[in-house]
Amino acid sequence: MFQDPYTSLNPSHTIGTILEQPLIINRLGDGSKGRKHLVKEMLRKIGLDDWHADSFPHQLSGGQRQRVGIARALMLNPEFIVLDEPVSALDVSVQAQILNLLKELQQELSLTYLFISHDLNVVHYMSDRVAVMYLGQIVELAGVQQLYERPLHPYAQALVSAIPTENRQTKRERIVLQGELPSASERLSGCTFRTRCRHAHERCAAEQPSLAEREPGHWVRCHLHSLA
Ligand code: SF4
Repeated sequence: MFQDPYTSLNPSHTIGTILEQPLIINRLGDGSKGRKHLVKEMLRKIGLDDWHADSFPHQLSGGQRQRVGIARALMLNPEFIVLDEPVSALDVSVQAQILNLLKELQQELSLTYLFISHDLNVVHYMSDRVAVMYLGQIVELAGVQQLYERPLHPYAQALVSAIPTENRQTKRERIVLQGELPSASERLSGCTFRTRCRHAHERCAAEQPSLAEREPGHWVRCHLHSLA
């Protein structure tokens, strides 16, 4: 499922045609009539009406288009869906509706999501396990509570410290990252985070840390937490 509901739907096709495409390509559905029936069933499942099948994308709101994006992803009855920033282009009130719909569908259809997002509140709401990435590498991987309550990697610590909280007891000191972000094409020796890490030491420039399990289910890529 794509990020931008304004550019990920073909503007010259009706919603019905867009949703029928995966069935046609995979030779599924019982003829044209059967496919149209499946499309209407899916539209109802994602909170739209049968008549939306005859609408064009420009006639729908951003939230409705993103519902169509969800429907398209579901047309082949998948077990696993990759959602690439699925709500970042939407208004906050619409974001909540789409996230709740995704959660309901996950329960109903026993789906597994790989949910990609920069919004840490959204990640917290949607995830069971979280992988924090820096320059294309996983630097920490843990259960959502483990990660938000006790992040181990300095980058994850900075991210979590930036989450606004009203609760004084859980308020953390904000860690502001300094230093330069190396370009993705630059091959930096040692740890890729070392140009911005306040704990960087000699070993960090010489040796790349590997991802190691520090507690059951809690993995981190950092020399501060390596066993050697
Ligand atoms: S390996 Fe070194 S530079 Fe990298 S995150 Fe850990 S302490 Fe910082």
